[in-house]
Amino acid sequence: MFCPKCGKEGNGLCAKCYLEGSELKFKKTEIILCSCGKVHYHGEWVHEFESAIEGLAGKNLVVPSEINVEKLVFEILSKNNKRIFLKIYVAGKYKNESIKTEVLAEIKVINKTCESCGRISGNYYEAVIQIRPDDAENIKDIIDDIDSDFITKVMDVKNGIDIYITTQQYARELVNKFKNRGFDIKTSAKLMGKKDGKDFYRVYISVKPPRFKEGDFIEIDNRIYEVAETGKNVICKDLDNRITKTVSAIKLQKGELIVNPDVRNAVVSSVSPGEIQVLDLENYETYDLKNKKNKFKLNSGEEVKILRIGNRVYVV
Ligand SMILES: [Zn+2]
Ligand SMILES: [Zn+2]
Repeated sequence: MFCPKCGKEGNGLCAKCYLEGSELKFKKTEIILCSCGKVHYHGEWVHEFESAIEGLAGKNLVVPSEINVEKLVFEILSKNNKRIFLKIYVAGKYKNESIKTEVLAEIKVINKTCESCGRISGNYYEAVIQIRPDDAENIKDIIDDIDSDFITKVMDVKNGIDIYITTQQYARELVNKFKNRGFDIKTSAKLMGKKDGKDFYRVYISVKPPRFKEGDFIEIDNRIYEVAETGKNVICKDLDNRITKTVSAIKLQKGELIVNPDVRNAVVSSVSPGEIQVLDLENYETYDLKNKKNKFKLNSGEEVKILRIGNRVYVV
């Protein structure tokens, strides 16, 4: 006999053609998890996450009637606080033929608080985000988008709000949104005691407006930078070598804003190899500046702006 679909020799419809017509499927499945990692399984909160997944994988896999499952292995492809994605490898028999196939499965995560976490406090929280915006309108979309399932409470405080969050994972997700807008983030942790035998920390995350804005002058390690672009990365022009590049957040932490910078109109009064001279149009003083490798790319007579800091002079 031959397979009526592909013509392969054998006993009627072959395994490959059978599986094409009757795929293995995965039923809509949910799992209840607590932020501490426990899973609600068979009516109780347990730590055995993997065996709960294995149980759900076996129970919710729909196998066509002609297939006898002999072995089932799963792999967690990805996991977040909304969904778990699995790949389930199935080995078994179709009539007398051995088959191997795989199924992608999605399990919806329901976030709940287990008894022991609930017991710690009626208003449980693992993180507090202290948001102090300069303009509340700028962050309205982020605030409106917060998933209330993770919020214990929101407190109005002077200059902003404190948001109490049930899981540190969600707090991190939220803080990243502010980080991506260039906000200044500082995190501190406080040891609160033990939870399920492990040290339990509560984190406090301060979210403040970006410290520097475009056009600001900053001094870092005796060098002067002009902020060219803010946002996720801060891009600055180093006024010493006139190179524009990204300045790391760590370096920016050391930066001092130059308040009321003394910026003046000036004109390039002469250009010679290795040096230019500028004339300050406010007091008609002239300054000689090193023009190494012709970094200024300026011509005599060109109008420029200069920044004076003490006796240092920079072309902006
Ligand atoms: Zn076939
Ligand atoms: Zn828990």
